[in-house]
Amino acid sequence: MAISKFQPAEKILEAFDAGQRIFGESRVQELQAKASALPEDIKWHFIGHLQTNKVRQLLAVKSLHLIQSVDSVRLLRLIDTEAERAGTVADVLLEVHVAQEDTKYGFSPAELVDWIMTEEYKSLKATRIRGIMGMASNTDNQEQLTMEFGQLALCFHQVLGVAQLPDFSILSMGMSGDYPIAIAEGSTMVRIGSSIFGER
Ligand SMILES: *Cc1c(COP(=O)(O)O)cnc(C)c1O
Repeated sequence: MAISKFQPAEKILEAFDAGQRIFGESRVQELQAKASALPEDIKWHFIGHLQTNKVRQLLAVKSLHLIQSVDSVRLLRLIDTEAERAGTVADVLLEVHVAQEDTKYGFSPAELVDWIMTEEYKSLKATRIRGIMGMASNTDNQEQLTMEFGQLALCFHQVLGVAQLPDFSILSMGMSGDYPIAIAEGSTMVRIGSSIFGER
């Protein structure tokens, strides 16, 4: 998929005309503006940190296909409540944190597997958990990248092994600088920004 955050509509349209249909944005307002200005058959993915007060706005975007960055149980519950209220079903990935950089966002692999074991996901009414999304450290160290993508892949397979989630099939990992390693480790979806559009 193409990550179009901070890129102007003309560049997105150029990629669309070349056949690209899946685009990712990291801010709700920017996504809203682009979705209303650009072709309706674009499948928009949300990849940024989602604030709880923006969930309703995000779900109202008609061509929204997947929220990749669900980074807490609290956010997941809120998305479920809002999607049910809106009479839609939200497709989501759970964000898993393995990189060395400190971030407040995302489940650790152990946390995610523990939460899956509680089977709370069975009470979701309007949300389909489609897989996981993760990022590796910002490094050129190939062994480090291989190890981190391997951790994400292991987490994906552990969840697949214990959860009864029929639609759980997406392992979103790999960006411009590291996607060949991510693919080698089992990625099913790479998120490419600067290699397609140039620097932001
Ligand atoms: C910006 C971003 C990307 C794309 O990064 P590039 O290095 O430009 O390919 C991928 N995933 C996430 C979550 C991002 O925020």
